[in-house]
Amino acid sequence: MIKQFKPTWMIPAIYNVTPAQLRARGIKAVFADLDNTLIAWNNPDGTPELKKWMHGLQDAGIPLVVVSNNSEPRIAKALEKLDLPFVSRALKPLPLGIGKARKQLGLRREEVVMVGDQYITDMWASHLAGVRSILVRPLVTTDAWNTRINRFFERFIKVRLAHLYPEMHFQEELK
Ligand SMILES: [Mg+2]
Repeated sequence: MIKQFKPTWMIPAIYNVTPAQLRARGIKAVFADLDNTLIAWNNPDGTPELKKWMHGLQDAGIPLVVVSNNSEPRIAKALEKLDLPFVSRALKPLPLGIGKARKQLGLRREEVVMVGDQYITDMWASHLAGVRSILVRPLVTTDAWNTRINRFFERFIKVRLAHLYPEMHFQEELK
């Protein structure tokens, strides 16, 4: 059960992941959670690092698609300045949103990666969708109430994972 939450990679921030690292692992598209992965509630326009990273992916021809549990109006508003395609109401941890984004691009499971900051939504959904995953550190540590409940359970998951996979830790890049 606990291995359903195990990320493929753990990287402190998504900006560390370069197009070359993705290509070397056969990854042709990146799916990303929105809140606390790409943008923080207190900085909805995104940081200069995010924009630089997004341009790098764009130049490399690697699509970036937001897969979020939020509603369409909320995501559309959040992404106003970033201009990214998205799947709303993804119902993570169900795999539906990831599957939808993947089929829209016509890619196989091994050709996409899902990035997110939560074990219970993002990592579990990746596992159920059969795609590789990258766990990032949340951009800010103050969460919405529903996320705080998840964080409570995540503490148990983290402890169990650390026990089962002592070799797992945050790395500076995809290895
Ligand atoms: Mg999140």
